Amino acid sequence: MFIGSYLCPVFTPSSYYNGYNISILPPPSPRTHEILLNLHMHTRYSDGFVSHDQVAAAALKAGLDAVIVTDHNVWVDGPEEYYRKNGSKVLLLVGEEVHDQARDPQKNHLLVFGAGRELATYAYDPQFLLDKVNQSGGLAFLAHPNDPPSPAIGETDITWVDWTARGYHGLEVWNWFSEFKGHIKSKLHAIYYAYNPTRSACGADPEALRRFDELLAGGRKLVMIAGSDAHALPGRLGPLRRTLFPFEFHFRTVNMHLLLPRPLGEDSAQDAALIYETLRQGHAFIGYDLPAPTRGFRLTVHGSEKTGTMGDEFSAKGGITLQIKLPLRVECTVFKDGQPVKTFRNRDLCTYITSEPGIYRVEAYIQYKGQRRGWIYSNPVYIKR
Ligand SMILES: [Zn+2]
Ligand SMILES: [Zn+2]
Repeated sequence: MFIGSYLCPVFTPSSYYNGYNISILPPPSPRTHEILLNLHMHTRYSDGFVSHDQVAAAALKAGLDAVIVTDHNVWVDGPEEYYRKNGSKVLLLVGEEVHDQARDPQKNHLLVFGAGRELATYAYDPQFLLDKVNQSGGLAFLAHPNDPPSPAIGETDITWVDWTARGYHGLEVWNWFSEFKGHIKSKLHAIYYAYNPTRSACGADPEALRRFDELLAGGRKLVMIAGSDAHALPGRLGPLRRTLFPFEFHFRTVNMHLLLPRPLGEDSAQDAALIYETLRQGHAFIGYDLPAPTRGFRLTVHGSEKTGTMGDEFSAKGGITLQIKLPLRVECTVFKDGQPVKTFRNRDLCTYITSEPGIYRVEAYIQYKGQRRGWIYSNPVYIKR
């Protein structure tokens, strides 16, 4: 029986504590430093059309804090550092997107971060590859786990199919390019979206989300990420030439927001380690920043023993309060074990109280250009018995 209840009063964080003895409340989560990270893209080292310097320049223009370049089957050693301009800086990190190039048909793309070495030689066996990633201290995410074909533009289905593999850290539940492919039924569609790129992104992939929830229900602790899969493809129609979806566009669109325990500093190696550890722990959410900035979203969990956020575990004993803070008054749904349990409408502060163990996460939606879009996807919190 579901015994959760909810409140959605209009309150401020300070008024929330009225009537409580603040001195006995658990300390607030120290994860207050939010950074923007875009983490799946390709340069000229594989099938992209830009250099690392151009990636960094676009990221600086878009105001990102960090990017991870993930060229196909090549780990590029060298360009990993802070890039600076006009008092701003961005940390460019180098990962890799690995797949077995001899496999027919092509499947199983794996994003590898932080391994610090070339791993494409192990691509022939996904489990062997995952073992090598873990031995190298890296992170592995299944790229576009559900990826539709688009014959109109010569793109095949490159879904993840090896579901017996273990040892990955999460799923890319929203891949901008896969979603775009799914829209393209003819060349005319491709032209339409090339000139109307803001029409394409509507939300995380429902099948990938379903798979994510299913894997969590099986006892795994996983992290959801979103990737732009940016290439800056050159488009050509007769005399017309156009870069399809420039990097700066992607960097203003779907990003990861990470909650760090300290601000980024000057040491690129230390900051890289901090970013990877934060991703590994799932202290992060997906934000679709084009309709409106998602910076400031928080899912804070108050348990009887501690206060924490996404990625953390709590005991259900004594009850749990999920406190949701949204940057705008929008629609927001709480999911428990993959099922919606409460939807709030036109709210920017919501509270959900429960004593039911389960895996909880939050989605928020926004109206943009006449369509309801997925706006924010939190990573889960784990409420144990
Ligand atoms: Zn891929
Ligand atoms: Zn890719």
